[in-house]
Amino acid sequence: MFIKSGEEIKKIYTRARKGGYAFVASNVAEPNTMIGLVQGSQKSGSDLVLQLSRSACEFAGDGDAVAGLRAMGKYIEEIANQYNIGVFVNMDHLKDPEFIEEAMETGIPSSVMVDASEESFEDNVKRSKKVKEMAKSKDVLVEAELGRIKGVEEGISSEKGYYTDPEEAVEFTRRTDCDLLAISIGTKHGVSKGKDLDLRLDIAKNVSRKLNRAGQEVPLVVHGSSGLTYGQMKKLGKKGVCKFNKDTRYQYEYAKTAAEFYREYEDSIIPPEDVEKGQPFGEGIWSPDKDFFDPRVVSRKVRERISEVIEELNEVTGSQGRSLYI
Ligand SMILES: [Zn+2]
Repeated sequence: MFIKSGEEIKKIYTRARKGGYAFVASNVAEPNTMIGLVQGSQKSGSDLVLQLSRSACEFAGDGDAVAGLRAMGKYIEEIANQYNIGVFVNMDHLKDPEFIEEAMETGIPSSVMVDASEESFEDNVKRSKKVKEMAKSKDVLVEAELGRIKGVEEGISSEKGYYTDPEEAVEFTRRTDCDLLAISIGTKHGVSKGKDLDLRLDIAKNVSRKLNRAGQEVPLVVHGSSGLTYGQMKKLGKKGVCKFNKDTRYQYEYAKTAAEFYREYEDSIIPPEDVEKGQPFGEGIWSPDKDFFDPRVVSRKVRERISEVIEELNEVTGSQGRSLYI
C-alpha cells in the first residue's frame, strides 16, 4: 500500500523509537531495485521507506527531475498497492528550495530531507526551518542534518568528517522544529568497512539522551550506513536511531548479480572465440540465446537478490514483523 502522508510515516518512526528498532531507508533510481525491496519487505512483514535523490529523479526522468519523481511515484504506487505493507517515499539530500517545493507539490513524498549541513550552524538552522515551514501545510515530515558526513554524495564532498555535537543538536532541533535529525557519528557515504570507521556510537546515545531530556523525541538518522556492520546497526537501533540510509549496498548487489549472470551465460550472448562468426541473427553456426539476453531474465535475478537483502536487513534493524498495516 502506497502511503503519501507525513502523519502516517511519523507513526512508524514513533513506534520504532519507542520499541528500539529502526527502518532501512533504501535508495532507488529504477524499477528493479524498487520491486525487489517491496517484495522482500512484504515477506518480512515490515513497512518500507524508499528514497529518491534529485539525481535519481533526473535519471528516471531522462534529465527532468520532476518528471522522474512523478514517473517513479506512479510506478511505486502501482506496485506498492499490490501489497499490504506500508510503502513511503522520502526525498534524500535536497538542497535547492525550488526543487524541494516542486517535490512536495507532487504529493508523492511523505518526508523530505533538507541538507544544509555544509553551511554554518546559523545558516543550517535558517534553511532547515524554512523547509519545515514550507512542509507544514503539506503533510510532509522534514529531516534535517547536523554535522558532516565523510565522502561524496550528490557531488558534495567533505574533506573532514565532523561529528554532531549533542548540545547543538538540542538547540538545532528546538529552533528548526525538524521531525527527524540526521547525525554524523563517523560513517562515510559510499563503500567502507565497519572496522575501519572511527565510529562514535556514544554520540548517538548522547544526542538521543539530551533530546529526550529536552522533551524533543526526535528520531535519529544515520547516513552512509552501507559501511556499518550488522552489530553496529543493532546497537544504534537501541540508541534512538530509527532510520539507516542505504544506497551503496543495493548498487553493489545489483551489479554483482548482473555480472555473475552475464559471466555464467556469456557464451549464449557473445560469440565464443572458436565459432564461425556470422551476423548475430543471420546464417552463422552460432546464434545468441534469447533465454539469456532478454533483459527481463537478469532483472528477475536482481529483484530476487534485492528482496533477499532487504529481508536480511529488516531482521537486523528489527522492523521485521512490525508493519502497522498488516
Ligand atoms: Zn546521505
